[in-house]
This record gives sequence, structure tokens and C-alpha cells, in this order.
Amino acid sequence: MPRKIAAARFVLSEHASSPIDIKGEPHYNAPPIQFNYPTNLTVEFSATNGVLTAFVAEADQGTASIGINGKIYFLKQFHVHTPSEHTINGERFTMEWHFVHQTTEGEYAVIGLFMHHESDVATTAPYSSLIEAVDSGVASCVLSPRALITKCLEGWHYQGTLTTVPFDPVYWVVVKESVMVGEDDLRRLTKAFSQSSSN
Ligand SMILES: [Zn+2]
Repeated sequence: MPRKIAAARFVLSEHASSPIDIKGEPHYNAPPIQFNYPTNLTVEFSATNGVLTAFVAEADQGTASIGINGKIYFLKQFHVHTPSEHTINGERFTMEWHFVHQTTEGEYAVIGLFMHHESDVATTAPYSSLIEAVDSGVASCVLSPRALITKCLEGWHYQGTLTTVPFDPVYWVVVKESVMVGEDDLRRLTKAFSQSSSN
């Protein structure tokens, strides 16, 4: 369960155990995130103990990165939690995507992206094609990773940890704007990706 921490604790030099309950306004003066993602990236799906994770394919390792505060973090994998791990003022979202990046020295930066569901709506592209791929049981697919993350990156930055062992330090960016998923796709997504956590 997320711990409650006061808004005043949202100072980049302070540390918290993730996930947390986020309070207060987004950090509008947070350092910008520079995306260096290729247009097409091959991801491979791997299930461990029923938890599906999308890994950047071996051949594409090191081709997708983000820059924060002058550090370059390479995209390693992404996965989803149902329901969200982070909460905003106590509110939990339908899902939360974690885009896990790491420097060559092993430091983590994770972008957390909320997903909310609505009935009678179409799932936002390119999530619809991603869901199609995992639902049909293919081992890999090619996608545009930048398109998975909303254009508006306003949100909360804080120094936290991985949410499972070994709880390594993580530079967290939790994006305010959530991505939409349709009711049917939500069912397929939940079935494909287990409800268990995978860091
Ligand atoms: Zn995670």
C-alpha cells in the first residue's frame, strides 16, 4: 500500500520508498525529459510467474533513451500494474505503466503512466495495437515507443525506489495525464498482463 507523505517532501534530494500517495500540484519546474526514442523498436514479451513484461529486443538494446539532468537512461522494459501502484490524493487508477530505464552505471529512471478505462470508447493508439499483439500471443512486436507516452509530461518527479526487491533507488517521473483504455481492451490487457507486480 502506498504511504502517505506530505507535499513538502517532494524535494528531489529527499528519498521515499515507492510507491507513494502523491499530493499537491505537479512539479511544473521539474527538469525536462529529453526523449531519444527510435520510430520503430522491437519489443519481446516474456512471462515470468504469469507476469508479462515487454523487453527491448536484444538487437535494439541501447537505441531508446531519455535524458534527465544530463544523465542518459536507456529503455530496458515496460510492464503494467493493475490497479495503479501510485495514487493521487488517495485515488487509485485502473492501471499504471512503468517504463524502466537504466544508465550504463545501473541507475534507474522510471516513467509511471496512469491508464483509466471508459466504456464505449476506443483504446488510444498505439496501445490498441500493443494489446492486439499480446492478446494474440505473439512473441514480439514492433512499435513506436514515444507514442506510448503522452505528449504532455507534466507530473511529479521524486527520488524513490523500485517497488519490489531489491528496492534500488529510482528517479521517478509520474505523469499527470492518463491514457485511455476501452472496456474490452481492459479485459484483454488484464488477462495478458497479470495482476501481480513486477517491480
Ligand atoms: Zn512496475
